[in-house]
Amino acid sequence: LKQWLRDYLKRNGLLTLSVFAVLTGCVLGAVLRGSHLSTQAKIYFSFPGELLMRMLKMLILPLITSSLMSGLSSMEPKACCRVGVLTVTYYLWTTFIAVVVGILLVIIIKPGVGTEMDSIRLGGGPVMTSADALLDLIRNMVPSNLIEATFQQYKTDLVPILKVSRVTVQPNLVYAIPDESDLRGRTVLLELTPPPEIHYKTSPGNSQQMNVLGIVIFSATMGLLLGKMGERGAPLVNVCQCVNECVMKITNTAVWYFPFGIIFLVAGKILDMQDPSNLGKKLGWYTITVLTGLFVHGLILLPFFYLVLTQKNPFTYIRGLLQALVIALATSSSSATLPITMKCLLENCNVDRQIARFVLPVGATINMDGTALYEAVAAIFIAQVNNYELDFGQLVTISITATAASIGAAGIPQAGLVTMVIVLTSVGLPPDDITLIVAIDWVLDRFRTMINVLGDALAAGIIGHLCRKDFPRGGTGKSQPSYGT
Ligand code: ASP
Repeated sequence: LKQWLRDYLKRNGLLTLSVFAVLTGCVLGAVLRGSHLSTQAKIYFSFPGELLMRMLKMLILPLITSSLMSGLSSMEPKACCRVGVLTVTYYLWTTFIAVVVGILLVIIIKPGVGTEMDSIRLGGGPVMTSADALLDLIRNMVPSNLIEATFQQYKTDLVPILKVSRVTVQPNLVYAIPDESDLRGRTVLLELTPPPEIHYKTSPGNSQQMNVLGIVIFSATMGLLLGKMGERGAPLVNVCQCVNECVMKITNTAVWYFPFGIIFLVAGKILDMQDPSNLGKKLGWYTITVLTGLFVHGLILLPFFYLVLTQKNPFTYIRGLLQALVIALATSSSSATLPITMKCLLENCNVDRQIARFVLPVGATINMDGTALYEAVAAIFIAQVNNYELDFGQLVTISITATAASIGAAGIPQAGLVTMVIVLTSVGLPPDDITLIVAIDWVLDRFRTMINVLGDALAAGIIGHLCRKDFPRGGTGKSQPSYGT
């Protein structure tokens, strides 16, 4: 038994530590909630978790650019085309299936039908049209300035909630705030009567998030062209391969810090969490609906596709991904999880390096099955709460726009909440009703991010299998380097 335990820990030590860290974080957060830490104390407490997020984010840019440029440059044009078409087709197909699962479940469970919603609503008119959001998606694909794209994405301003640190009460506003001191620095929902006039900018936004989509498009184009340039492009390809190797080495070292960071990341979030007893029954059913959908899609349908298309055991493959799934749960960001997903695929799942370098960065940007499913459920839930009957045509519209909205969502925490405005406005639902689900969103975000990461990783396994003739084992592509990770 001792020997078995030693072997097990040797193989799964890091994973065991990470799972233990998530549980410890939950317990620590729950225990410390009672001690009403000050905002300053919470910032200090969350610091190790903040460092973890910063480390992961630091790796995204070099990883995506070097993976795509070196991966695509060393693929044969025909293989490249085949992998590209298969990847995009598979991604669109599975995202659409996820949306259909979500729609069926929300129609069957009906979480929003019945008694009044307990949440407080924010008044105000539509904040952004779906046309605005779609234009933002396209703008992000064509960054006007590459340097700027590394720290800024184009986003039409949308403020679904008010962040209140001090509230000034005017005579014509009715306000309901239990205790102002409790609300400092926290997110609150206010009902203001009459509804305040809110102005939303539709001018270039200044979201301080990297424009990953723009960077993916640019790097993929560069990779393709470098491949065509042959010898002349080789120096840059070599640089990209070196950068890629270094990033993977940094990742391999940084992972030993992760369990420690995860404890504080999770505990810090639980400290900030709204009291769950205030969320109400409907949000409970809504949560169950989303989680059931994610479970069905992630643990039944996607593995089934993997089994049918590769004839291999999907759960053995998923076991190799557990480390990435834990990081997705802890960080709520599929982009931040990307270095770990890459590590798992290369080290545990035996996926071809070139396939992983292309399929994963593209997937982390455009393939979000969990987000698409959640957006469809949330939109129909909001319709049910408003007693708004949706006909078949509107359900089809929701399925298409939820797919588009998930493609537009960045792989960062709660991005899906913002792009959901596309889905809501497409069927005439009030976009500001996003406030109904905001309180529970951070929890659901963690689970949908896990499914987003799982979807990308399973896709890499499937595409790798389907294109195995283009990338025979041991001799992949034109100029595959033979370095380890
Ligand atoms: N947090 C998700 C991700 O990074 C996106 C979302 O659904 O909000 O994949």
